[in-house]
Amino acid sequence: MPTAKAVIIPVTPFQQNCSLLWCESTKRAVVIDPGGDLPDIERAIAKAGVVVEKIWLTHGHVDHVGGAAELQARLKVAIEGPHKDDRFLLDNVVETARMFEIPDAANVTPDRWLQAGDRIAVGALTFDVLHCPGHSPGSVAFFNRDERLAIVGDVLFAGSIGRTDLPGGNQRQLLESIRDKLLPLPDDIAVLSGHGPPTTIGRERATNPFLQQMATASR
Ligand SMILES: [Zn+2]
Ligand SMILES: [Zn+2]
Repeated sequence: MPTAKAVIIPVTPFQQNCSLLWCESTKRAVVIDPGGDLPDIERAIAKAGVVVEKIWLTHGHVDHVGGAAELQARLKVAIEGPHKDDRFLLDNVVETARMFEIPDAANVTPDRWLQAGDRIAVGALTFDVLHCPGHSPGSVAFFNRDERLAIVGDVLFAGSIGRTDLPGGNQRQLLESIRDKLLPLPDDIAVLSGHGPPTTIGRERATNPFLQQMATASR
């Protein structure tokens, strides 16, 4: 029985939650959203004693992907995700990084674009891909039912939701993604977000002010 383990590595001035996630039974790992600060990520990999076999991206924003190309060059692994609707962001990482004064960011060309219904694997763990546009058009979440775990990028946060004022953002679409893709998941599913503390689907369903508002609006 595989077991997922994860450590969070806050990276970039945005304190983005890069995750090192691994399968305990095989010690095979994936780095999710390596936005930058590669020495910190590499230290976490060494400390966990795991072999990284993939890089997964939840969406194309610079704080999530700025270090992906360099990490790929160092580890010689494939980059999977996000959905191809975020290509315009991945093609402009360098420019955006300059704007936000994030050093050493590079544009990213994924080896595999993801779409709804895809399944991706690390070690003996398999995750379902949920396409959740709204924060960005190509945002995806990763869900593993057996491990009671969802990794949602900037779609949903503890007590909040992703911003929608960046290029390609759309708040109505984001609320629909949360309602149709995330809220149907069971209450006990742990949620790792791109920023801030972890939460659960149940806690957000019960207390997230943005979701209460949505439930009222749809009545
Ligand atoms: Zn974002
Ligand atoms: Zn972010």
